[in-house]
Amino acid sequence: MKGIIEAAKAVESKIIENRHALHQIPEIGFDLPATAAYIKEQLREIGIEPKDCGGPVAPEVREKFRSAGFPDMANCTGITATIGQGEPCILLRGDMDALPMKETSGLTFASQNNFAHTCGHDSHAAMLLGAARILKAMESELKGTVKLMFQPGEELGYGSKLMIEAGLMESPKVDAAIAIHVMSDIEAGQVQYIKGITSAAMDTYMLKIKGKGGHSSMPHKAVDPNMIMTQLYTALNLLPGREIDPQETVILTAGKAAGGSAPNIIPDTAELQVGIRSYNKEARAHILQRVPEMIDHYVKAWRGEYDMVKFSTPSTYNDAELCNTLLPFVREAAGADKVVEAAKPLPGSEDFSHVSDLVPGLFLMLGAGKPGAYPMHNPNMVLDESVFATGSAIYANCAAEWLAANAK
Ligand SMILES: [Zn+2]
Ligand SMILES: [Zn+2]
Repeated sequence: MKGIIEAAKAVESKIIENRHALHQIPEIGFDLPATAAYIKEQLREIGIEPKDCGGPVAPEVREKFRSAGFPDMANCTGITATIGQGEPCILLRGDMDALPMKETSGLTFASQNNFAHTCGHDSHAAMLLGAARILKAMESELKGTVKLMFQPGEELGYGSKLMIEAGLMESPKVDAAIAIHVMSDIEAGQVQYIKGITSAAMDTYMLKIKGKGGHSSMPHKAVDPNMIMTQLYTALNLLPGREIDPQETVILTAGKAAGGSAPNIIPDTAELQVGIRSYNKEARAHILQRVPEMIDHYVKAWRGEYDMVKFSTPSTYNDAELCNTLLPFVREAAGADKVVEAAKPLPGSEDFSHVSDLVPGLFLMLGAGKPGAYPMHNPNMVLDESVFATGSAIYANCAAEWLAANAK
C-alpha cells in the first residue's frame, strides 16, 4: 500500500503515548477495567465505536480459575471494533493483559502498581490503536471490514476463548486473522514467522492429592499424600522419555510439588501442578490420555483421592497460504531484508491459537530489542519503541491489502 510507512510514522508519537499510558496501569487476567476504559476512549477519539465482547465470566470458568489460585475474575473485558464494511472480514488481534510481578526496569513510565507489562501486551494494544488510526483515515478505500480484537487474559491462555464464546468471530463473520507479538531478545525491526505450528501447545494439570493426616510414628494409620505425590511426580517425569517418539518434543515440568509443614506430621493433602508443552498433535493426544490415567492409578493405588483442574491451550498454527499471501505486505511495511523465517516454533504458548483453530491465521514475532537482552516475562524487560510504528504498519498494510485481494 502506497505511503504505509509514512502513515505509520505520522501516528508513531501517539502509539508511544498510548503505550506509556497503558504501561503504567497494568492489570492481569480477564478483568481489566482501567485498561479497557482507556482503549475505548482512544477508539472513540479516532471516531470508532467500541463494542464489549465478553461480559460476565460463566460461574464454572470463574470457579476453575479461582480454585487454581488466580484472582477472582467476574468479567471478561474484551473489546471489538470495526473499520470499513461488508465482506470479507479480517481480524487484527492485540492483547492487553499484564503479569503478576513487580517491574524493576527503572523506566520513567514504569508500572505504578504490583503488576507489570513484561510481555509487551501494552505495546500490542498501542500498535493496534496505531493501525486503527491509519485504517480509519483510509476507511472509504477498504474493500471489506477490519475487525479489531483487544483481548484480555492471554496469559491465562483463555481470554480469546471467552471472546470467541461471546461472538468474536461473528457479525461480521471473520475470514482470516493476524496477531503480532513483540520480542525483546530479537533484533529490533526484524520480523520472524513460521509456516505451520508456531507455538507449543500447553496443557496444565492442577492436582490436589487428598490423603489422611496423622502422626509420623504411625504411618499405617494414615494415608501419606506426600508419598503419593512423589511417586506420581517420578512416574509423570518418565512418561515423555518412555512413551513419546524421541524425535518429538514433549516437555513435562512439575513446577509445583508441595505438601506438609513439619517432619513429624503426615499431612492431609499435597499439591502437584504439572505443565506439559508439546508441538506434534499425536504426541499431545497420547500425553492427554496418559497423564490423567497415571494420576488416577497412582493416587488410587495408595488409597488417596484427588481433585483435578485442567487448562489447555492448543498450538498456534500459521496457515501456509495466508502466510504466502501476506508476506509481501509484511515486507513492504517492515523492509524486505527484515522478514525472516524462524528456525523453530516458540517454546511458549499463545492463545491466538483458539482463533487460528477456526480461521486461517498468521502470528508474527516483531523484534524489539537484541539477542541477549532481558527476555519477555523478566521484571527488567524493556522494548525498543522505534519498532512500534512498524508493527502498526504491518497490521494496517496486511489488513487493507488482504481485503483488496479478497474483495467480493
Ligand atoms: Zn506472556
Ligand atoms: Zn505475550
